Amino acid sequence: MAPSATNGSTAHREDNLSFTSFSQFIDGVAVKTPASRHGINPATKEDLWEVPVSGAEHLDHGVDAARKAFRSWSKTPFEQRKKAVLAYADAVEKYKEEFSTLLTTEQGKPTWQANLEVTAGYDWIRGMAGLTIPEDVVEETETKKTIVRYTPIGVVGAIIPWNFPLLLTTGKIAPALLTGNVIIVKPSPFAPYCALKLVELAQRYFPKGVVGSISGGDDIGPMMTEHPGIDKISFTGSTTTGKLVMRSASKTLKRVVLELGGNDPAIVCPDVDISRVAPMIATYAFLNSGQVCLNLKRIYIHESIYDEFLVAMTEHLKTMAVGNGLDKGIVLGPLQNSMQYDRVKTFFDDIPKEKWKVAVGGGKMENSKGYFLQPTIIDRPADDSRIVVEEPFGPIVPALSWRTEEDVIARANDTRMGLGASVWSKDL
Ligand code: NAD
Repeated sequence: MAPSATNGSTAHREDNLSFTSFSQFIDGVAVKTPASRHGINPATKEDLWEVPVSGAEHLDHGVDAARKAFRSWSKTPFEQRKKAVLAYADAVEKYKEEFSTLLTTEQGKPTWQANLEVTAGYDWIRGMAGLTIPEDVVEETETKKTIVRYTPIGVVGAIIPWNFPLLLTTGKIAPALLTGNVIIVKPSPFAPYCALKLVELAQRYFPKGVVGSISGGDDIGPMMTEHPGIDKISFTGSTTTGKLVMRSASKTLKRVVLELGGNDPAIVCPDVDISRVAPMIATYAFLNSGQVCLNLKRIYIHESIYDEFLVAMTEHLKTMAVGNGLDKGIVLGPLQNSMQYDRVKTFFDDIPKEKWKVAVGGGKMENSKGYFLQPTIIDRPADDSRIVVEEPFGPIVPALSWRTEEDVIARANDTRMGLGASVWSKDL
């Protein structure tokens, strides 16, 4: 049974947007499908609301509508597009509380983090609306002038992951529309609700067909990357899927933007204030239960402070309450879905097999209903172990020790994943 309301917080307004029913929008209209599916609340494993399951015909319909809308939207003056985008940001802010509760319900992150994501969502829209689209004059003589103009491309297919389903949707809608493009949003089947609701809300601010959504299963993403009527793919997700997206998009020479996985090293120098820095490192390693592309995923601590730093980190981790994100005082929620839970569990299964030393955690959360695992730090596993080389994307992190800068920089750089990296020291 799907919940009847999002934590009872849905406000009754004249222009009320329901947060208990969800649809996809094609050509400005809610389009039903014969089949439906639903997400699961990862903290309770309860079924959430039904959403459409589309096929190729729905995508064709959506692309046709988007191509039609592009003809006039691409010619709409920038200032007018910007005005509509800013009005949309205000609308998202107006429904902040509802979006935040919905986000926790479908994704699992605690309410305070969901609030931050929603705030960042409308702040990003506004920030992007503050940018201008420059024209570059690259040559100007008495007889010749050469200008580079950035013109609209066409239909953008937005493919969204399940870890930041709201922020990454607003982060794709705003730049596409400001630059005169139109967009079709495909949410993750694991976390479709915030993205579908954002597209529904957008119908009030943009002409029909300018912002559409397509809801369905795992087959929709590949259909989008192959579709000849989509001109660009903006993808955020895993590196493995990113490679498939690039390969598939190459068949129609689509442009692609790929925001992929990370395995971010944090290098902790011997001069740090341990009582200050260790809690920060623990926080950024375990935020969203390790399901952030930019989480600290390999912690390199100088050997002279290693033991003390590890104790401070584990002590802080023990204060981070794990549970249902809708409950008060929770810092870490569940894994978002069963597939991710099963994958992250394989790292926990490696603990006895690889004889890893566990500094804290190490197992399942007994008596929990949802996809919970204990926040875990592995004490100095081998540099070539899976926990160091791969992106677990869950609450399990290796602590490693280092002696010389040359050595630690080489180890930090020993990855094909480039995203973030940090050095922690008093000496800027
Ligand atoms: P995922 O790659 O499994 O799925 C992402 C999206 O791609 C989903 O909508 C999915 O339905 C779709 N998809 C799946 N197969 C596809 C295919 N063959 N063709 C086209 N689309 C397809 O990723 P996820 O598990 O949802 O997200 C977690 C990953 O995302 C992590 O690796 C994380 O680091 C990364 N991520 C990166 C950033 C960034 O900015 N770099 C931000 C957030 C998440």
